[in-house]
Formats: sequence, C-alpha cells, structure tokens
Amino acid sequence: TNLIDIKGVTHAYKTENGPLPVLENLNISVPEGDFCAVVGPSGCGKSTLTRLIAGLIKPDEGEVWLHGERVTSPRSTVGMAFQNPVLLEWRTILDNVLLPLEIVPNSMSKRQKQDRARDLLALVGLDGFEDKRPSELSGGMRQRASLCRSIVHKPDVLIMDEPFGALDAFTREDLWQTMHRLRAEEPFTGVLITHDLRESVYLADEVIVLSGRPATTQHVENVKLSGR
Ligand code: ADP
Ligand code: ADP
Repeated sequence: TNLIDIKGVTHAYKTENGPLPVLENLNISVPEGDFCAVVGPSGCGKSTLTRLIAGLIKPDEGEVWLHGERVTSPRSTVGMAFQNPVLLEWRTILDNVLLPLEIVPNSMSKRQKQDRARDLLALVGLDGFEDKRPSELSGGMRQRASLCRSIVHKPDVLIMDEPFGALDAFTREDLWQTMHRLRAEEPFTGVLITHDLRESVYLADEVIVLSGRPATTQHVENVKLSGR
C-alpha cells in the first residue's frame, strides 16, 4: 500500500502580479517504508511540495493522501528535517531530541522516552554527547541530533528538505551512511528533497525529477543501481 499518494496536484501562489503557477499535475506514490527522492533545480517547487505533503498549504487542484487519509491540515505524523536545524541552545542534546515526545500525545513513561532518545542518539554515533549543548557540537553532529529529533515520535513519514546541503562533502557522505544505518534499524518512509543526484541515487528507492515551469513530475526508472 502507498503511504503517500499525490494525485494530480496543481498549485499556484497568489502574488501581487497575479497567480504564479508552480506545480502542475503532480503524481507521486510512495509505498510504506520506501525512500523517495525529488530532484530538480532551485525554484522549481520542491519546498512547495513539502508544504503540500505536510498540510501547510492546500493544492488548488488534486489531492494529497497520507496513510489512507486526505491531508487537509498540518499533522504531527509528518516529521520535517531542514538544511539548518534549529536546536534549542538552552536545552541539552538529549532534551532537544525529547521535545517531540513532550509535545505529541503518547503513552510513554518518562523513562521510556529517555531510553528511546538515547537509543537513537547512539544509533547515529552521538552516545556520550547527550548532555552537551548544540553549540558544542560540529555541524554534522547537530544534523545527526536533529535527525533523531525528527523521528523520535515515529512519524508516518519524514520529509527532508535539502537536509545535508550546508555540510561539506565529507561530512555529507558520513551522514548518508548514518541514514542507511538509521533505516536498517528503524524502517521509515521518507521524501528527500535534494539537488544532488548522487545523494538521491545513494539514499532513495525511487527518484522523481521535477522539471518545467510550472513543474511536473517525471519518474525515473531503474535507479536501484550499484553502490548501495
Ligand atoms: P524550490 O524549493 O524548488 O527552490 P520553492 O517551492 O521554494 O522552490 O518555490 C517555487 C516558486 O514559488 C519560486 O518561484 C518561488 O519564488 C515561489 N514561491 C515560493 N514560496 C512562495 C510564496 N509563499 N509566495 C509566492 N511565491 C512563492
Ligand atoms: P562531523 O563530521 O560530525 O561534522 P567533525 O568533523 O567536526 O564532525 O568532528 C569529527 C569528530 O570530532 C566527531 O565525530 C567527534 O567524534 C569529534 N568532535 C567534534 N566536536 C566535538 C566536541 N564538541 N567534543 C568532543 N568531540 C568532538
């Protein structure tokens, strides 16, 4: 079954100069557990697509479905990860990762929440850094911590908008390996927005190209290539 179904979605922004068509007749299906990469040039509507999936904006035409439900408003079952993660400096790394568990209703005990956050941090190689402040960590480590925070409450889907774009090439490849490790332990469905084709092929099960103006979807077959 598909976790995400985007059916014939068209969207234009309303601007002073009239409507700005951005996306036209988008069709994307992501099976549960898969990672889908969306690649395309700057300004083609990739961030707009993430807002539509997250329910932050509504399409002019077409429908967005998540887990068999039509998306019409923002929801906590969608995790988001961005290029510049905002970690709270007055909280430790552990307490930053715990945030979603404090906000999203759940039946976990305090102990269970702590264990869950610690397990995730260990999985991404941050054991021993639980009590540090964000500014004491490198950029790559902060991105790792923020990944943990994005999935700690087990969202249905993780949407990543250029998550590794601000990192140097070495750190970025490190993070790719971290992603594979995370997914092996904890299967989750993901949408990865990137303009790095190598990244899309390394991380995703399916690559979708957004192109044209307004942009539409081109599905790329056979991306399950070597090197994975
Ligand atoms: P990308 O993420 O691929 O760079 P965006 O989705 O951010 O693309 O933007 C697509 C187009 O829509 C761009 O031309 C951008 O200027 C425009 N745009 C984005 N957000 C808004 C907005 N809130 N209001 C008006 N235009 C917008
Ligand atoms: P990353 O590749 O995660 O950005 P760096 O290249 O900056 O990390 O740092 C390499 C290694 O140095 C880290 O994986 C970590 O083991 C160690 N390190 C970085 N910052 C600290 C710190 N504040 N305290 C202790 N060790 C650190």
